Amino acid sequence: MRPGTHILILGGTAEARRLATALAERPGLRVTTSLAGRVTNPRLPPGELRTGGFGGPGGLAAWLREHRVAAVVDATHPFATAISANAAEAAGATGTPLCLLRRPGWTAGPGDRWHDAHSLADAAGRLPALGRRVFLTTGRLGLAAFAHLDGLTFLIRSVEPPEPPLPRRTVTVTARGPFTVEGERELLRTHRVDVLVTKDSGGPATAAKLTAAREAGLPVVVVRRPPAPTGVPTAGDVPGVLALLSRAAADRCP
Ligand code: NAP
Repeated sequence: MRPGTHILILGGTAEARRLATALAERPGLRVTTSLAGRVTNPRLPPGELRTGGFGGPGGLAAWLREHRVAAVVDATHPFATAISANAAEAAGATGTPLCLLRRPGWTAGPGDRWHDAHSLADAAGRLPALGRRVFLTTGRLGLAAFAHLDGLTFLIRSVEPPEPPLPRRTVTVTARGPFTVEGERELLRTHRVDVLVTKDSGGPATAAKLTAAREAGLPVVVVRRPPAPTGVPTAGDVPGVLALLSRAAADRCP
């Protein structure tokens, strides 16, 4: 990539920070990470930072033009579907190369008792048959899907305080990963958890709860990922995205 090349990383994930760190080591590149601004005290990547929505795909397209962005990396969370769709539309409208950095999902191993759900509402519907004391780790939003489950007790963990309405019997913990197996074991034991609910976020930072649940023989409801954007070159890790960026640059300047 030529010096001065401007790369926009759509962030909010550990992978986005790792990519910004890797690109920061390349002299002369201009790298901007964009955050939605949902987290009060985010971990900051190296390079430039902008925060807040762009105002839909049109706003993002205008930003790409105004800031002469040479390539966009969508390194957002696998469940952040709106920004990924906006990125695909804005990149198409401006002719900006786009690639996707998407960590692989989790897969069940021996001893796991996983139950797939296709949405938070589907996960909520499965819970009464699986347990009474729920460890809910699907994030701070969308919890209204569980609010009617008066017969169950919830331990809800999220980075920022969860948004009501919440189930009547709820204890909340605000915490940010990475989490350890020891810590997760202790949490399951202290709160006498008998079922876990998680999104299929993938990655090591929040996987310890799955190990702890397996050890304790607990069922886990796994909310499966929404479909990834189609037709976008995709890599599962930072070296893979660096290779895609180099290829995009070579295609432009053979
Ligand atoms: P979303 O539903 O896909 O996006 C909603 C709106 O937020 C977008 O239309 C966009 O606003 C703005 N936005 C989202 N990501 C942005 C970014 N990186 N930079 C600038 N604007 C952004 O996203 P979400 O699920 O609310 O997630 C928000 C952020 O949190 C994402 O960056 C994601 O990587 C991170 N995150 C999400 C989850 C999750 O489970 N969803 C988990 C961990 C981290 P405009 O249309 O105005 O541009």
